[in-house]
Amino acid sequence: MILDLRSDTLTQPTQEMLEAMFTAKVGDDVFGEDPTVNALEQKLADLFGMEAGLFCPSGTMTNQIAIRLHTRIQSEIICHKYSHIYLYEGGGIMSNSHASVKLLDGEYGKISPGDIVDAINADDVHAPETTLVSLENTMNKGGGSIYTLEEIKPIKAICDQNGLKLHLDGARIFNALAVTGESPKEWGALFDTISICLSKGLGCPVGSVLLGTKEDIKRAKKVRKSFGGGMRQAGFLAAAGIYALDHQVERLKEDHARAKKIGEMLTDHPLVAEVFPVVTNIVIARLKGISPADMLQKLDASGIKAVRFGKDQIRFVTHLDFEENGLTEFEKRLKVIK
Ligand SMILES: *Cc1c(COP(=O)(O)O)cnc(C)c1O
Repeated sequence: MILDLRSDTLTQPTQEMLEAMFTAKVGDDVFGEDPTVNALEQKLADLFGMEAGLFCPSGTMTNQIAIRLHTRIQSEIICHKYSHIYLYEGGGIMSNSHASVKLLDGEYGKISPGDIVDAINADDVHAPETTLVSLENTMNKGGGSIYTLEEIKPIKAICDQNGLKLHLDGARIFNALAVTGESPKEWGALFDTISICLSKGLGCPVGSVLLGTKEDIKRAKKVRKSFGGGMRQAGFLAAAGIYALDHQVERLKEDHARAKKIGEMLTDHPLVAEVFPVVTNIVIARLKGISPADMLQKLDASGIKAVRFGKDQIRFVTHLDFEENGLTEFEKRLKVIK
């Protein structure tokens, strides 16, 4: 058995999810006539108390559409230097929206209200115009760290005072909510747009949804078309999303418990210098006395797959295809790696 912990995107759809997909009622979604896509968009919008949603092929697309909505040429976005929108979306901020970024630092990938205030550009001929703050929750490169609502509220106030939009890259927002028990509606009330991935911990084969006002989502639909993301009988994919929201949210807690155990095992390992606090389903370990490439090779030889995550770090992500017997195996195999 290979223990593939490279990402929570590697999961296979369950039999029940496949059945939901096969039996979906579909139509042409570019015409707005796919009932299953419409139902998924409405279901998530209602859950977060937002007006409308837009189903897209990827979280990169939902983030990039949001950035397009909230910027103009020569705008600037404030975000953490580890943000997915900056590091892992192919430079799309530049190529799709011709915008600039102001990168902030902060422990475990989180930015503070004080640093945001300082990063807002003055209305000055030299500076790009700050129009957007983008947060990520959970924070992937911060080790799956979370913001709480109480941490977001002062940031929202700064955005309101300065006429800035606030976007949430909530690729793993359900992982965060599973820890805090906060309600999605409270989150929806604080953001102009929220991007949610169905293809991560929720276990769908494809898909992300962008949430926002009716007006923003109408514009977003046009941007999606220009990005080549208008899909036709996409209800087969949306059906997986509806199934996941109904059946695969509660179980995220199991992923978190297993990630915590992996974190504990790694903390005691002779080749590990430090493990980031494990809050959700991501475990980042900083190595000592071995390079990530060599460590990954040793793990691979024992049937454990992880990825390099920075200069001297590796990342493990738990997910629905990694169950209790996988964890037992993981412990056995890790013990013999020296
Ligand atoms: C995975 C991910 C995305 C979107 O990725 P896609 O592969 O394009 O769906 C966005 N933000 C974060 C934090 C992610 O982990």
